[in-house]
Amino acid sequence: MTVITRFAPSPTGRLHVGNVRTALLNWLVARQAGGRFVLRIDDTDRERSRPEHVVAIEDDLSWLGLAWDDRAVQSERGPIYEAAFDRLREAGLAYPCYETADELAAMRARQRASGKPPVYDRSALALSELDRGKLKHEGRVPYWRFRLPDAPIAWHDAVQGEKRIPTGAVSDPVIRREDASVTYLFASAVDDAAMAVTDVVRGEDHVTNTAAQIAIIRALGKPVPRFAHLPLLLDDQGAGLSKRLGSAGVAAFRERGIEPGALLGVLATLGTGKAPPAVAAPEGLLDGFDLASFGRAPVRFDPDEVRHLNERLVHGLPYEAVRQRVGVDEAFWGDIRANLERPEEAAAWWRLCTEPLEPAIGPDDRAFLDQAADLLPETDPVAPAYDDWIAALKTASNRKGKALFMPLRLALTAREHGPPLPVLLTHMPRSRVLGRLLGRVA
Ligand code: GLU
Repeated sequence: MTVITRFAPSPTGRLHVGNVRTALLNWLVARQAGGRFVLRIDDTDRERSRPEHVVAIEDDLSWLGLAWDDRAVQSERGPIYEAAFDRLREAGLAYPCYETADELAAMRARQRASGKPPVYDRSALALSELDRGKLKHEGRVPYWRFRLPDAPIAWHDAVQGEKRIPTGAVSDPVIRREDASVTYLFASAVDDAAMAVTDVVRGEDHVTNTAAQIAIIRALGKPVPRFAHLPLLLDDQGAGLSKRLGSAGVAAFRERGIEPGALLGVLATLGTGKAPPAVAAPEGLLDGFDLASFGRAPVRFDPDEVRHLNERLVHGLPYEAVRQRVGVDEAFWGDIRANLERPEEAAAWWRLCTEPLEPAIGPDDRAFLDQAADLLPETDPVAPAYDDWIAALKTASNRKGKALFMPLRLALTAREHGPPLPVLLTHMPRSRVLGRLLGRVA
């Protein structure tokens, strides 16, 4: 049987790291099994869903390298939900309810006041045909609930182990609203059944939904997927991550020039106790991936971990991975990468070595730089003789430390900071080095 997983974002905002983890793990489950990964846009909430969020979500997934094999949009699948709804209604498993939102709120308040859980009391099930006719006559339009079975709903969860949800503690879920639109809970179950989804990996905030969705899928006569519910990610304050949390948004990492692999490496291992591997693309995470290694305790997401992994990743990135992006030659990349936070920074150092530049020279350093020019080795480039040059200059000038190195760096690069000078000198012709020491644009 083909393994089919799905990532089902609601396009009500941009992706945050919690969403990315869900997308990645579903992608890995599918790819590891040679199966299919479906992107499903859960836009049943018409008011909060926005087309620009769909575009941004797809763009972020592409940036991450999480390609999908199929794509579906819930707002385009109305007839499929209608057919499923009819089937449940004909089977007597969907029933009309007439309470207003205020009446439901009052019912919950009464239940809480008497110490009972706020579970829908099924009063609509007790309505007779006559009662319903009267309500209809008054102009009341029903919403619909799915009748949960009486027996507890159980499944083996790939992360949480045996789960058993007593249905007495859960309200019969609303599946269709007064305006005939369907709810996320229903559409998702119908889609998982219709798309033959075999594995659902998602956050543990969905556990109660899962119980109801399993019951709906069974009622539709379809096989129930395997489920895995991951503990939620917490921010550094110990609070849950939300879509509004800027720093945990994918956009923030992209803007800072973080490699997608750094984010993926951290998210693939967070909560497993394994060290995050430095991989350039998600395929590198397939080997050894196992859902069973995820723990059940909530985990803290630390953006610094991504930053550290990013550094490790950039320092080891092979030329093929950056060739298109950085516009430097292979030898230069090999020498410079260990000094970069972002691959794109290589371009500025490349220009500095290959294009004329106005040197920065302080008035007190003129004589010293003349000495440096006099002592400049004849080798071209001068890099192999760098140590000898510096030793000779140190003796001749009686300078050391910052007084020795900073004027050289300023003359050669016009900046106070940067990669080690021998690295840059490897890629600069001797004539350029000499010109800059003498204060010329070179
Ligand atoms: N649209 C839901 C969400 O973003 C999908 C959950 C699911 O069914 O996996 O939470």
